[in-house]
Amino acid sequence: MVNLQAVKEQMRPGVALVAVSKFHPAPLIEEAYHQGQRIFGESRVQELQAKHEALPADIEWHFIGHLQPNKVKYIAPYISLIHAVDSERLLSEIEKQGAKYQRVIPCLLELHLAEEETKYGFTPEACSEMLERGAWRELKHVQIAGLMCMATQTDDEAQVRREFHTALTLWQEYKQKYFAHDDAFKHRSWGMSHDYHIAMDEGATLVRIGTAIFGEREY
Ligand SMILES: *Cc1c(COP(=O)(O)O)cnc(C)c1O
Repeated sequence: MVNLQAVKEQMRPGVALVAVSKFHPAPLIEEAYHQGQRIFGESRVQELQAKHEALPADIEWHFIGHLQPNKVKYIAPYISLIHAVDSERLLSEIEKQGAKYQRVIPCLLELHLAEEETKYGFTPEACSEMLERGAWRELKHVQIAGLMCMATQTDDEAQVRREFHTALTLWQEYKQKYFAHDDAFKHRSWGMSHDYHIAMDEGATLVRIGTAIFGEREY
C-alpha cells in the first residue's frame, strides 16, 4: 500500500512531488503510477535502468543520488532531471552524452550545506566561483535548471531551516546574477520525508519523498 494521497495533499502550490522509489519494487511504483504519480526518483543507475525498461514510458525519471561520470551514458537517453551535479567533471560528461543523444539534459547543482562530511556537493564558494567563471555557458547540451541540497540529519529544526534558507538565498542570488533571462532556472530541490514542510517554507519547488510514501526501505 502506498501512502501517496496523504503526501500529495501536503504539497503547496508550485511544489512538485518526486516520489523516491529507490529500493522499492516495480509493483509499488505501478501502484503510485495508477494513482496518478508520474515523477519518480532513483539513486542507483542499474536499478533505474531496470525500472525504466519495465515501467510505463511516460514516467519522468529523476536521478537524485550521487552520479559517477562514467555512468551518465546509461541514463542520458531518457533522464528528465539530474538533481545532484556535484562536480564540473560530471557536468562535462553530461554535456558529452547529451550531445551524443542530441538532448539538452536538465540538471541541478548540488550544494553542500549540511554538516555531515560524507555528503557530496559544491560548497557555496565553489558553486559561486564556477558560475562566475562561466565555462558552463558553453555547454549546449546541459541546462542548469536550479539548485538541490540535503539538510543535516538532525532533530534541530532551526538548523535545518537555516540550511534550506541559505540554499534559497543562493538560488535568488544566482537567479539574479546569471539566470535572470533564463526561465529554465526555476527549481529548488530540497526536502525529504522528515523535513519537507520546512523545505516548502523555504521555497522548495521539488520535494524528494520516499519513506513517507512507500514506507521503510529494505537494504
Ligand atoms: C533517499 C533519498 C531521498 C528520500 O528520502 P526519504 O527520507 O525516504 O524521504 C531524498 N533525496 C535523496 C537525495 C535521497 O537519496
